[in-house]
Amino acid sequence: MFYLMYTGGVENTGPLWVFIVAPVSVFVHGLKRGLIELMLFVIISIAIMSIPAEIIPHTVYSTEFKLRLLYSFLTVTFLSALYEYSRDQSYQHTLKLSEKYQRLAHLDPLTQLSNRRAALTILKREQARVVRSKEPLSIILCDIDHFKKINDKYGHNAGDAVLIELAEIFTHSMREQDCIARWGGEEFLFILPQTQAESANILAEKIQAKLQHHIVHYEGHDINIRMSMGIEQFKDNQSIDEMINCADKQLYQAKSAGRNQIFPKF
Ligand code: GH3
Ligand code: MG
Ligand code: MG
Repeated sequence: MFYLMYTGGVENTGPLWVFIVAPVSVFVHGLKRGLIELMLFVIISIAIMSIPAEIIPHTVYSTEFKLRLLYSFLTVTFLSALYEYSRDQSYQHTLKLSEKYQRLAHLDPLTQLSNRRAALTILKREQARVVRSKEPLSIILCDIDHFKKINDKYGHNAGDAVLIELAEIFTHSMREQDCIARWGGEEFLFILPQTQAESANILAEKIQAKLQHHIVHYEGHDINIRMSMGIEQFKDNQSIDEMINCADKQLYQAKSAGRNQIFPKF
């Protein structure tokens, strides 16, 4: 551009090309850096066009031409900056929305725990890690005992309050690497990396002990919660479905044995 301005290009039409500088500059380098570059571009361009031809011989433009070129260039710069600004704003907005929906797609809206889809993704990742590292991985599948009765007696909102409070208790009982997900209606799944079944059992007992002493207060009602839990430690060549099915069988055993129990017992 400087060369074109200096030489004038074909029949002094060279300076017309300066108009592509503004949009390209803000688009390629962003608003801030683009505007700084454009400011420098204008200063250097004015300097080139203002050098007296007696000192360095170059194409001479009329003052009217130079002024109009400057005004129109500044107008195009302003419009390019405005366009880039609104493009960036809508890009940031879309990015935030997409992050929000991505987060929501993995969260259970009621309890804010991971949902089943997220749990399956984490299980796949952990399973792959276990195969490589040979570290243990355990899961606990829990189901609230007689939850239907809580709903029937105190109402569906009370049931929801119980689920929310349980989620808080679980979250506070977990280590950082553990994951707790809402697996189904009143079923929760704990994913415990680097944990053997015996240690998972200790955690399950700790949670059950907490629940024995915990009362959910809802609109003047005192609601007791009890849970049955089934534990499974990942075995070599076991698929995720098989692991979940085994935990489900253990949970069924806990229910059959009278509920409020953990299976297998150690
Ligand atoms: P069990 O001890 O055999 O597990 O008995 P249960 O009553 O807990 O089991 P059942 O499967 O018969 O009932 C589960 C109930 O959980 C029925 C359903 O209405 C309720 N439920 C599922 N999801 C929600 C929810 O998001 N909110 C509320 N309030 N209730 C839910
Ligand atoms: Mg159930
Ligand atoms: Mg239940």
